[in-house]
Amino acid sequence: MIIIMKPDVDPSGPEVQKLLDFLSQFEDIQTRSSGIRGAQRVVNEIYLIGPTHHIPSEVIERMPGVEKVVRVSSKYRQIGRHGGQVDDVGFVYNGIEFSQQSFNCFIGPCAVDTPDNIETIFRNMKRTGLKTARMGVYKPRTSPYDFQGHGKACLPWLFELAGKYDIRVIAMEVLKEIHIEEIMEALEEAGKPTGVMLQIGTRNAQNFELLKAAGSQTEFPVLYKRGMGLSLEDSLNACEYIASEGNRNIIFCLRGVQSRLGDPHRNLVDFAHVPVVKRLTRLPVCIDPTHSVGSKDRAPDGIFDIFHVTAQGIIAGANMVLTEFHPRPEMALCDGHQALTMPELDYYLADIEAVRKCYNERLQLAQQALFKQWHGVKGQGD
Ligand code: PEP
Ligand code: MN
Repeated sequence: MIIIMKPDVDPSGPEVQKLLDFLSQFEDIQTRSSGIRGAQRVVNEIYLIGPTHHIPSEVIERMPGVEKVVRVSSKYRQIGRHGGQVDDVGFVYNGIEFSQQSFNCFIGPCAVDTPDNIETIFRNMKRTGLKTARMGVYKPRTSPYDFQGHGKACLPWLFELAGKYDIRVIAMEVLKEIHIEEIMEALEEAGKPTGVMLQIGTRNAQNFELLKAAGSQTEFPVLYKRGMGLSLEDSLNACEYIASEGNRNIIFCLRGVQSRLGDPHRNLVDFAHVPVVKRLTRLPVCIDPTHSVGSKDRAPDGIFDIFHVTAQGIIAGANMVLTEFHPRPEMALCDGHQALTMPELDYYLADIEAVRKCYNERLQLAQQALFKQWHGVKGQGD
């Protein structure tokens, strides 16, 4: 059961205290309060854990300060929408909004290499108004002989350069708990010139200890990438691990699933799940077109497959896109063959803008259709 308090209620005020006193008579119930600083408002929610079926929700609903009571299914307790009973809330991190309404484009190399290449990317980002980057410094590679990332050694100059170009968030994969500490330390030493979104990669999608480590800190938001061989349900349960530890600032990323049926793409594109994740959970949804497609092939219409699948995700309502770019892909230490180049950035952003506009038009059509349905307005088909 979740008790949602009215927006103006003080979490340590008399209304909440009265409610907790009332609940204390149910000895087998534990309560956990969570104040979520959403993108638009602060949401105070009290979670009841244990057998709640005998707790009278009507009594609680009449208590001062209570907005509503939601009986939750055991699934996705924290991240779920519980059949539409709870809204998405989103969050703001380092001045950037992440919600089921917002849209952000993250670009950058698969792996950080030279300061010169990184500065070229940041310079182009500033020129085009982008403030969100993707950059791996800890790389999980299939072969132990491949480049594993520069690790913490590159963090000081990377963060300094990010600050110079007003980059607000860098999505960065972590493979173990100590990487979170290294990032935290390096950011503090640099004077926090930028922010980091911890990325849990597909290869760690069910590394429960790592999920718990990312969930038990609230400094950084988490970008969770769907397991390449996991059902949607298993991946959403993995996100629930992060949230159940206390960190609700999570973004769910679709990046294609591994299947021969996806050939010749690197993975089978799963962006049809964008609206499904938005319906089942409160999480903003990201798409990764680069690792889904895995090549720079073009259709006969002249458009890259990467652009086509980016459009598929955005037209379905994706809130974030994570795309690999490299100024000199032939020199990239990882995944150069699938990286877009700097001259392609303006074209990519223009294509995204066109598709996002189309999604917004679709939203308006949906609102009009729902309005007619609710108000019994007769149309041409009647
Ligand atoms: C990445 O985004 O750098 C990456 C390795 O992605 P994934 O975990 O989806 O393979
Ligand atoms: Mn890559």
